[in-house]
Amino acid sequence: MQLGQLYRQVRDRFRAAGLPAADLDARILVSTLLDLSISDLILDERREIAASTVAEIGQKAKLRLAGMPVGRILGEREFYGRRFLLNSAALEPRPDTEVLIDAVLHRTMSDRPIVIWDIGTGSGAIAVTLLAELPLCQAIAFDLSEDALACAAGNARLHDVDTRFQAVCADFLSSIDTCCSDGPDWIISNPPYIQTDVLSTLDPEVIHFDPLLALDGGNSGLEAYVCIITDAAKLMKQGTGIAFEIGFDQAADVEKQLRHHGFGAIEIIKDLSGNDRVVLARRA
Ligand code: GLN
Repeated sequence: MQLGQLYRQVRDRFRAAGLPAADLDARILVSTLLDLSISDLILDERREIAASTVAEIGQKAKLRLAGMPVGRILGEREFYGRRFLLNSAALEPRPDTEVLIDAVLHRTMSDRPIVIWDIGTGSGAIAVTLLAELPLCQAIAFDLSEDALACAAGNARLHDVDTRFQAVCADFLSSIDTCCSDGPDWIISNPPYIQTDVLSTLDPEVIHFDPLLALDGGNSGLEAYVCIITDAAKLMKQGTGIAFEIGFDQAADVEKQLRHHGFGAIEIIKDLSGNDRVVLARRA
């Protein structure tokens, strides 16, 4: 079968099943499994694909039709133009989180050595992306899950930033005195922020495939922010920054916590859908 034909067959099955991102899912699935770029699907559409490969792609397409997200089928997902390997302990990195990366990059001099701490690193998407974008940056990535840290460390190796990457398995407070007394220039986090009682209303593709530890923000949805801000206030030097991804309705609450703990210069940034998505602040 020819490549163009194969792609259209998968896409049409996804469209017929009513998948909301049918075309994109088909493009990513077929191109990644064939190790091609998305544009090759068009430019090289007459390429002959072996029957065994067609059958394998058909099997993967069935998994998608059964409700498995493409990133989980492939075990990888693109974030900020780079490939991130996933395991079951790591949240799939989302495009919304790219807003957090841009916000930090726009406020950072790339020719200065800086230290960032990524709290709840998961796949390492935030820490590894910043290391790749900022050649003089060092990162410490914290997570409660050893499996997530193994995933993050693998991604640091994949993108050749592992010599500047350190993984720490701990929650934030318990790890402070053991690893790094100097304190960071930035504390950055996409913590779990969904209220426990609305978890069951999330899209089944999120709740069945993303780790609960990365989603469940406790009864208020704010528990992780409160812990991180309380700890950060004790160790951050004046003028250093904190940057959070937040849920669309959490800006005011997170801002209140930050002000209460001595942070100022607060900025709130929206995502591409126009929802509040990032909060930035400086230690006053
Ligand atoms: N943005 C995630 C979602 O789609 C939630 C991630 C988080 O809790 N940090 O549900």
